[in-house]
Amino acid sequence: MDDKLMLMIPGPTPVPEAALLALAKHPIGHRTAEFSNMIGEVTENLKWLHQTENDVLTLNVSGTGAVEAGIINFLSPGDRILVGSNGKFGERWVEVGKAFGLNVEAITAEWGKPLDPAQFAEKLQADTNKEIKAVILTHSETSTGVLNDLATINSHVKAHGEALIIVDAVTSLGAYNVEVDVLGLDVVASGSQKGYMIPPGLGFVSVSPKAWEAYKTAKLPKYYLDLGKYRKATAKNSTPFTPPINLIVALHTTLGMMKKEGLESIFSRHERQKNATRAAIKALNLPLFAPDEYASPAITAVSVPGMEADKIRSAMKKRFDIALAGGQDHLSNKIFRIGHLGFVSDRDILSCIASLEVVLAELGYDKFTPGAGIAAAAKVFG
Ligand SMILES: *Cc1c(COP(=O)(O)O)cnc(C)c1O
Repeated sequence: MDDKLMLMIPGPTPVPEAALLALAKHPIGHRTAEFSNMIGEVTENLKWLHQTENDVLTLNVSGTGAVEAGIINFLSPGDRILVGSNGKFGERWVEVGKAFGLNVEAITAEWGKPLDPAQFAEKLQADTNKEIKAVILTHSETSTGVLNDLATINSHVKAHGEALIIVDAVTSLGAYNVEVDVLGLDVVASGSQKGYMIPPGLGFVSVSPKAWEAYKTAKLPKYYLDLGKYRKATAKNSTPFTPPINLIVALHTTLGMMKKEGLESIFSRHERQKNATRAAIKALNLPLFAPDEYASPAITAVSVPGMEADKIRSAMKKRFDIALAGGQDHLSNKIFRIGHLGFVSDRDILSCIASLEVVLAELGYDKFTPGAGIAAAAKVFG
């Protein structure tokens, strides 16, 4: 049966019908008053979502482009930076830093474990010459489902005084309470196909006054991703280059939906769905890959000892048209990941867990009482 696909991967995430209809409209000119008004409203609502007075800039890139822009605009070749790395995305920012000739020190933890804030504190406190120019942190590490302790790591960065904090918030923004101004986060990057409920193609970067100071002397080369251009254009409710018009129109729609739902309610929905998913997985006697205290609100990774994760995923797709994500790199075929990010309802979680029970039983996994997963999830929702 067509059109019943349920995306439960951590991006792209499901798109609500109102946004799909917006995408289906004829593009309008991007230098018209109508579009300019839309840019103005979108920018206001992005600031609301980021809980900030800082600039929030919209770029025609995927999330990686947004993070890259957030790095190259504020640093110079040879600058010393600390990069948290406990998964695929942390590793990516180490690679980006190296690609641009930065002096990168990775602070690592095993995949599935959170980063240790004390290791950041140690490096930052020892740096009395203030050579560390930035700390880059992946807040919600999508590859493992770990939510790193942003607040504590950030407090060590603040105590250092000089370094900027640059945050990959791609799967935490719009799912978790990321208080940009309260925490004083300098650069926060995110992408449209995650919490924003629209397809891939837009990246967002918020920039603090302190980061704009660093921008003035930053020497890494940039052109298309030069955030100064975006800042100037955004101030005039415009864009420096041709934007993906229809994505902006769809974003205008979904940001309106988010405002209507309210931040508290959005965060508690993600928290509740995370709790229900984890309770169900525990009841199925499958090991959760990330510890409870550091569990991402957007994604739950599940270990499957003695089974092939990809068999479970393909059966879920074939039998129930539910798309789950696999493991990356050494976790390939070892874990599967359930996305509960963006336009996901409690009903979707119940459907997913019930389907998973059927698939597990079909594949011969018998370490659970039929219905136990659903009962555990229902208890969280009840
Ligand atoms: C999805 C994601 C990104 C961006 O990936 P793109 O494919 O470039 O959109 C970056 N960081 C995290 C944590 C992500 O989940």
